[in-house]
Amino acid sequence: MDRKVRVRFAPSPTGPLHIGGVRTALYNYLFARKNGGDMILRIEDTDSGRFVPGAEDYINESLAWLGIKIDEGVREGGNYGPYKQSERREIYRTHVKQLLDSGNAYIAFDTPEELEAKRAEIANFQYDASTRSSMRNSLTMTDSEVKSLIDNGEKYVVRFKIEPNRDVIVNDLIRGAVTINSSILDDKVLYKSADDLPTYHLANIVDDHLMLVSHVIRGEEWLPSAPLHVLLYEAFGWTDTMPAFVHLPLLLKPDGKGKLSKRDGDRLGFPVFPLEWKDPKSGDISSGYRESGYLPEAVINFLALLGWNPGNDQEIMSIDELIDMFSFEHCSRSGAKFDFEKGKWFNHKYLQEKDDNALAELFMPILKDKGIEGFSSDYIAKAVDMVKGRISFIKDLWEQAAFFFVAPTEFSEKDIKKRWKEDTPAILNELITIIQQIDDFTSKPSEDIVLKWITDNGYHMGNVMNAFRLTVVGECKGPHMFDITELMGKEETIKRLRYGIENIKPVNA
Ligand code: GLU
Repeated sequence: MDRKVRVRFAPSPTGPLHIGGVRTALYNYLFARKNGGDMILRIEDTDSGRFVPGAEDYINESLAWLGIKIDEGVREGGNYGPYKQSERREIYRTHVKQLLDSGNAYIAFDTPEELEAKRAEIANFQYDASTRSSMRNSLTMTDSEVKSLIDNGEKYVVRFKIEPNRDVIVNDLIRGAVTINSSILDDKVLYKSADDLPTYHLANIVDDHLMLVSHVIRGEEWLPSAPLHVLLYEAFGWTDTMPAFVHLPLLLKPDGKGKLSKRDGDRLGFPVFPLEWKDPKSGDISSGYRESGYLPEAVINFLALLGWNPGNDQEIMSIDELIDMFSFEHCSRSGAKFDFEKGKWFNHKYLQEKDDNALAELFMPILKDKGIEGFSSDYIAKAVDMVKGRISFIKDLWEQAAFFFVAPTEFSEKDIKKRWKEDTPAILNELITIIQQIDDFTSKPSEDIVLKWITDNGYHMGNVMNAFRLTVVGECKGPHMFDITELMGKEETIKRLRYGIENIKPVNA
């Protein structure tokens, strides 16, 4: 049956959205856009014990920063709301009742202590067909016993009655048809009377069904959810409209050994969250891609390739190109290594693509912070243009371009040792005179004049040019010398030469 593509990203607001969750959101978005479908954002907040204030806003802000646009959701509205599960209690109650009435679920009164005792008594205890007849539930009690317990306010849960030893087939668009025996599943809790809320499994299925979700694209989590959900669809009689499943490959640690965790980020020094997050309880700060100086386009491109490829070796792709090329055929089954260095590389590449004025704009707050004032945006943009090839982050601009804004007062000792000779001050004084006479102080004409002067006098090209650079930059590196002096202007260049001549003293090797 042909149905409109409708996908959902369904995070639980239990803390900051992990970068793996962002990848899941991105793949949903790419697939929706590619197929002219809808992207739903559903907040799965039925686990009241794990609710974290601020997490929902964090999710919204992260997706907005990355340019992952939501068509239907808490903020956006839509025809299938509410989009927050805690506001859908009535819907879940009706559906729990439906399963109870059809005999697909039962009520269980076992207390946590009783369950604990069973676990101690029976090795590998599982609440299922083999044990449910020895437990305190509506299958082992009379209707009136059940009713009186409920009337007395006894807490209960509703469990899914799973028929043992059945082959459940999960059709996954990446993994193919996977068969799982139902005996490995326990009679999952679907609803808890204590907080009058369904558990994840029930709410997730009911909402996917009611929101007409066509494809469930989720993180790597595979068992027990996928087969359990297939059985729930059956129990409700919704098999015909069951969504296609897509379980994305695991995100692995950079060395490929095990699942990527928050601790890996701390240990290896890279963010695993899109935005900085301050834990509301402990006050601990976790770093974010945004605050670390990443461009959202670079993060998107990097994440897109963690588990998917375009079928050729193209690496740099805009979001529109990604949408155009995206398909599950090129998603891998095996885990994707979180190659953080590659993330930096993407940022470097994307910074190169940015317009110099835009980069200058991003650099300005840093300059302001350093107390730098009085430079035109044009000057800043030109300085940025000369050094941007060496940066991976905007913050690197300061290290590379500071000398454009502050004349050096300290000079690299190593370079002095190598380049500052006895006769250097006299030669540089001569250079000042030469420079004073240059009419057109743009790069090429000045270069021609200075190099000719060096050659005509038989001076050592490397030593003179490097000593010149030392006075202007403070060390013997940086962009093309005459591009620098063109931007700084004649007066500033001479000022720096003079300062160097007076202050740099030869270091004896
Ligand atoms: N709320 C679930 C989670 O955050 C959703 C999983 C799913 O996409 O079905 O893991």
